[in-house]
Amino acid sequence: MTETIPVRKNQMIELYITGQGHEGEGVGKYEGYALFVPGALSGEQVRVRVTKLNKNYGFAQLLEVMQPSRHRAQPPCPIYHQCGGCQLQHMTYEGQLQHKRQIVADALARIGKLEGVPVHPTLGMDEPWKYRNKSQVPVGWVDGRMVAGFYAPRTHEIIDMQGCLIQHPYSDEIVNTTKRILNELGIRPYDEKGHRGLVRHIVARVGYHTKETMVVLVTKEREIPHKHKLIEQLREWIPHLVSIIQNINPSITNVIFGQETVTLWGKDTIEDRIGDIRFSISARSFFQVNPVQTKVLYDKALEYARLNGDETVIDAYCGIGTISLFLSQQAKRVIGVEVVADAIEDAKINAELNGIENVEFLVGQAEQVIPELFEARGLRPDVVVVDPPRKGLEEALLQTIVDMQPERVVYVSCNPSTLARDLRYLEDRGYKTQEVQPVDMFPQTFHVESISSLILEK
Ligand code: SAH
Repeated sequence: MTETIPVRKNQMIELYITGQGHEGEGVGKYEGYALFVPGALSGEQVRVRVTKLNKNYGFAQLLEVMQPSRHRAQPPCPIYHQCGGCQLQHMTYEGQLQHKRQIVADALARIGKLEGVPVHPTLGMDEPWKYRNKSQVPVGWVDGRMVAGFYAPRTHEIIDMQGCLIQHPYSDEIVNTTKRILNELGIRPYDEKGHRGLVRHIVARVGYHTKETMVVLVTKEREIPHKHKLIEQLREWIPHLVSIIQNINPSITNVIFGQETVTLWGKDTIEDRIGDIRFSISARSFFQVNPVQTKVLYDKALEYARLNGDETVIDAYCGIGTISLFLSQQAKRVIGVEVVADAIEDAKINAELNGIENVEFLVGQAEQVIPELFEARGLRPDVVVVDPPRKGLEEALLQTIVDMQPERVVYVSCNPSTLARDLRYLEDRGYKTQEVQPVDMFPQTFHVESISSLILEK
């Protein structure tokens, strides 16, 4: 079939970019053949070099932007191209929001064959920088000097970093200060190659509303030389520090945390809030990384759930119970289901911390636990909220939702393709998608989050 591909590898061509792919890459057609061009934007005339050819589409490298899009921006981060953590800094923020809406709308139309469903303009941040409340930075040794930053893409080479534009400023301060102090005390970083040395990762966590900060040192061994001096120095220099944690990870592994966690000084946890709900966050707890947008998303969940206080709600894929606790204030009863047992422990602690008694948390796979709740306990929720990982909902769960006949379903999704597939399944069985609201949880990156409101048509 090669003869149908109109370009050759390494050929240089001009291309008009007509769209934007899932990872933010530009897409253009050359004599009907689709080429993906990282770094190019929709509406641009570009010159590219063809790098890879597949049967139905290929890839090309951007050589020159001949006619820039009005959404082209100068990436403000000096290490944007090396790091790979952000993918959309070369797009204005307005362009990013439009792009994310388009990805959702396209998936609904193409995959879900859903017509006439309103997809609202993406809810973005006023200040789409400095939003992340957690940073996990690998530490290494380059040319006789400690470095802490990020892995160069597709390698294990650590590139030193002074700051990250999407991290909370305290995180940068925590990482830089810790790096300096470790260096001054001669505490060696871990060396992956020889499995020698001590400090593997510096993890910083910040309570957005409370300003409480935590530093976690992930070490290969328990013993830390100059431990008291280290603690004293960290306390002196890190702003708003309430907790110094050591996590011990002796294994040869890419996984950041080991099994054992020790509090070296201060509290075991920091606290933060989403709306009026307080959360206690330990070194390893999952917590939404963008607290400002989390509130926006959960307010939408509350709006779409349309609670008046009499409802039984299921929150499937509940994590540490954030949505469950948020909704519990306005429902009769909420049942959260989550597969990670530690997350459910956190959820229970957080319920107690807030004096919330109308929630119940169950450990297990949603597609197993929820059918059991229906069949064995005859549970008939009024509202089902789902927030699944990228692969979306298992058919067993979709089927149970249909069997339980809740009046409303609220679907929080981080993957428009599986969302569209699942909305189609539900649409065919009586659930009409009324509206979809993209919410930008991760500005400057390609992640697309949205929340959908479904009602049972009678
Ligand atoms: N709703 C939460 C977290 C959603 S992230 C919040 O807003 O914070 C998705 C969650 O689904 C993760 O916590 C993951 O551990 C969990 N998960 C993944 N597969 C699952 C399954 N089959 N059943 C239940 N939970 C699952």
